[in-house]
Parts: sequence; C-alpha cells; structure tokens
Amino acid sequence: MAIATISTINETRERLDAVRASGRSVGFVPTMGFLHDGHASLMRAARSQNDVVVASIFVNPLQFAANEDLSDYPRDLDRDTDLAERSGVDLLFVPSVEEMYPHGPVLTTVTVDDISSRFEGATRPTHFAGVATVVSKLFNISGPARAYFGEKDFQQLAVIRRMVSDLSIPIEVVGCPIVREADGLAMSSRNTYLSPEQRAAAPVLRRALDAGVAAIDNGEVRPAEVVRIMTTIVEAESHAQLDYAAAVDAATLVEPDTLSGEVRLLIAAQVGRPRLIDNAGTSIETTT
Ligand code: AMP
Repeated sequence: MAIATISTINETRERLDAVRASGRSVGFVPTMGFLHDGHASLMRAARSQNDVVVASIFVNPLQFAANEDLSDYPRDLDRDTDLAERSGVDLLFVPSVEEMYPHGPVLTTVTVDDISSRFEGATRPTHFAGVATVVSKLFNISGPARAYFGEKDFQQLAVIRRMVSDLSIPIEVVGCPIVREADGLAMSSRNTYLSPEQRAAAPVLRRALDAGVAAIDNGEVRPAEVVRIMTTIVEAESHAQLDYAAAVDAATLVEPDTLSGEVRLLIAAQVGRPRLIDNAGTSIETTT
C-alpha cells in the first residue's frame, strides 16, 4: 500500500476509525521528522506488531523554550516520506501548528511531576509538559493499540510510561533500543548541526557510558564514582561541555545511595551548537 500523507486531524480520525471498525490494530510512531535509522527502527517494530502503521511528523512548539532551535529545526518532508514508506508506514500525519493548536496557546496541559523535573527537565523546565501534552493529543487523534518510543530519549520514555499509567490510557508503550552510527554516536536529527571536528568528538558520550557500565560490571556500586569516571572522560574532550552525568534506577530515574538492580547511566553534553544526550543500561545481580 502506498503511503498516504495527511495534514488534518479529521481525515486521520476518519481513516483510523475505519481501520479499528474492521478489527485491525493501529501502531503509532510520533516523531519530529528529519528521519534517520533510529526512527526507522521504531517504524519497523510498529510494522511487525500492528495491521496499520501511523507515524506523525510535528515539530511541536510547546516543547521548545524561547531560546531553543524551534525555527531552524531540520526538515525534509520528501526524504522523510520516502524513509517512512520504506519502513512500513501506511499513514503519515503531518499537521501544521495551526491544525494542532487552532486557538494559539493551549490552556490545557499534561504535566508529569517529579520525573520531568530532573536531568533534561532541569535544563529544559517546560520541555516534558510540552511533550506529554502533544503526545496525549496525538494519542487521542490516532487511537493506537501500541505506541513506539526510542530509549535514546530515556527520560521521555519514562515520562510517557508514567503518564499512560497515571491516566489509564489504553495504549501499550513499546520502548525500542538506541540505534547508533558505526563509531557509537547515537543517531539524532540534531547531529546534522555538528561541524566535522565536533562530529569527530561526539562519540565521547558513548565512550563515557561504556566506561561507566564497565565499572559497574566490575563491581562498582557507588553512583558518585561512576559519575566521576564518566565526567573525567567527557572533560578530556575539549569540544564537549558536560551538562550532567548520572547513574540512576532505571524505573524511577532516582539516584540511589548504592546502585542495585536495573541501572541506567544518563549523560548530556553541549557539543558545539547541539546539546547531545545518550544513555546506557546495565544490571547488578543481587545475591541472596
Ligand atoms: P524525535 O524525532 O527526535 O522526536 O524522535 C522521535 C522518536 O524517535 C523518539 O521516540 C526518539 O526516542 C526516537 N529516536 C530518536 N533517535 C533514536 C535513536 N538513535 N535510536 C532509537 N530511537 C530514536
């Protein structure tokens, strides 16, 4: 089936109402476009588990602060349409800002307290409310059985999981592994902003995470020591300015006194113009 590109909420609803009425399931992949293999992996996962796959491309003003890159966020709808079609998407929802927010500023927002305030939320205080609000809206428009999010944005995934649980939203949230370039850099639409020197420096985030994971796998359970190891590696790279490095409980994103169970290492650094984020998981077996 050729991909259909639709820009209105009404037409999207009509088409997907017909899909659900015939007993077929909808899988949904929200994106901001400028698609790469990371997005494609979500689309392929949706393709393998659902009858109809919907993806959205919407650069959501609500999740950008005034000083961020909303106006020049990279866009290429022709390329995106081609990649989405090749990755198994049936329907591409590409609304305008006016279609999504016809009254201008929204009066109704969804906020997920606590999880949203740390790490990315500390640097970007309104970001996750913008994400949770637009994702709620996109869920209501597309009515999927399953929705696909990348572990690349690990905190975002935790925020969405908590929102879905707290509000009893009848959608299964599926987390998908991080897709990386050959040298370890996590794929991101914002990597396009990197100069050649910055691009060469950017895999430092992955190296820091690898060192942190290796320390834990060798028995380190002190979060501060894991953070010190990661920090030292990033600070040795002159193109990277560390924002945060943390070792947290993978479910709650809280930094414990002693690491145990499922652990996630989170890292963010400014590398030239873009702020890059990455993360990695490991687990500590508890012997009884
Ligand atoms: P974005 O277009 O950046 O809003 O991302 C849309 C979705 O793709 C989010 O769920 C991201 O976590 C996911 N994503 C972005 N980059 C990657 C990646 N390198 N690997 C896996 N998923 C990704």
